[in-house]
Amino acid sequence: MSNSFKDKKVVTLAYGCQMSERDAETLTEISAQEGYSQTNDLESADLIIINTCCVRESAENKILGKIGELKRLKEKNPRLKIAVSGCMVQQPGALERLQHRAPHVDIWTGTHNLSEFGCFIRQAEEDQKVAEVWKEPGPALEATPLAEKGKLKANVNISYGCNNFCTYCIVPYVRGRERSRKPEDILREAQKLVESGCKEITLLGQNVNSYGQDLDMTYDFADLLKKVDEIPGLLLIRFLTSHPKDLSDKLIETVAAGKHLCPHFHLPIQAGSNEILKRMNRKYTREYYLERIKKIREIIPESSITTDIIVGFPGETEEDFEQTLDIIDKVHYSQAFTFMYSKRSGTPAAKMKDQIPLDVKKRRLQQLMDLQNDQSLEWRKKMLGKNYDVLVEGPSKSNPDRLTGRTAGNELVVFPGDPALKGSLVKVHMMEAHSWTLLGEIIKG
Ligand code: SAM
Ligand code: SF4
Repeated sequence: MSNSFKDKKVVTLAYGCQMSERDAETLTEISAQEGYSQTNDLESADLIIINTCCVRESAENKILGKIGELKRLKEKNPRLKIAVSGCMVQQPGALERLQHRAPHVDIWTGTHNLSEFGCFIRQAEEDQKVAEVWKEPGPALEATPLAEKGKLKANVNISYGCNNFCTYCIVPYVRGRERSRKPEDILREAQKLVESGCKEITLLGQNVNSYGQDLDMTYDFADLLKKVDEIPGLLLIRFLTSHPKDLSDKLIETVAAGKHLCPHFHLPIQAGSNEILKRMNRKYTREYYLERIKKIREIIPESSITTDIIVGFPGETEEDFEQTLDIIDKVHYSQAFTFMYSKRSGTPAAKMKDQIPLDVKKRRLQQLMDLQNDQSLEWRKKMLGKNYDVLVEGPSKSNPDRLTGRTAGNELVVFPGDPALKGSLVKVHMMEAHSWTLLGEIIKG
């Protein structure tokens, strides 16, 4: 370690999905092993890590803007090192373009070689520029402990990569094929988190429902969930994402029978028209999807269902779009993440004819959001007057006099209470509903 780097501080900026966030935590932990303590203050940092996302062009533009801004800090503080990692760097052919655009960056690294990051930091400290992006996945970083001990909520990867190749999506190209972690490694990581104070775990995979298919074992995601549910001290167990094509009755029944398994399914529909679903290579029809929803509601009537939807996929007609609105009407999602289709270079959809003009995409997105906001409010209104278990996360950011937490269905709740309740499950009576939150009151006893 270079002597000139004492009392070193790191800021990590994470963009994108929960997987990307988990990678950012791993990079922060590796930097801690190299002697860096965490700060939020960019001005006093010796190392700034930007873990990137490239799922949509808007995310890329935002990140490029941030990297550009950091040039000013580097001019003020020449000992500052900047590392840019993750999906954006991993895109085929991206590295050269990025290096040309941001020569002030010291370390460029992709999604596959996280395990090398400590070595890259040491090289940068010796004023060497590093640019290493492996084409294939490197050794999995097993159960990398989290830098921040005593976290209430944590994400645990159960698999990396994706085999589905939806035609709009860059993920399989930047995260490789699906690789499931061994059950014993996942359980060990979850156990350690609980020992350090964690009460809520989210199991992460691009498609959790296909967990284990690449391992030589007759053990599936439902079996894994049952095992995680046996860990004493864990209060809430969440999971995402569920690809509808692989959502089994066994999984729904396992969630129904679980002690701490949250009755919440994040089941991206992406589009409501069979023609568009086919062109997206989603491998299910709207009829099949609606049948899965019916099954969930038959087995767990109170379960919360959320989704992802893309508007303006190439060739989407007004009739196709109406079919998406119709799905929203039929399913009653508690929440939907809605996106305008974004052309991703190297994916099949980027070359499809009939790309949809931006103004049409914008109009459809607004229409979709208006409908979903009404639906989300309706969903929350149905919760009024009832009591729900809520894990207290601490004082609300927007109103420090109130506490916040989430229900098992992942609904955000704000309520008055003692900050010492952080980390405990309380019963909250729901009093007022808004599109994104509920206001409530703790029930004693
Ligand atoms: N594996 C998950 C799945 O199958 O739904 C999520 C992957 S992706 C990180 C999260 C969401 O981004 C997707 O569900 C999709 O709605 C959206 N998305 C992916 N590629 C996109 C694109 N090219 N344009 C717009 N939205 C996109
Ligand atoms: Fe992308 Fe489809 Fe894989 Fe999800 S399932 S990561 S949308 S390719």
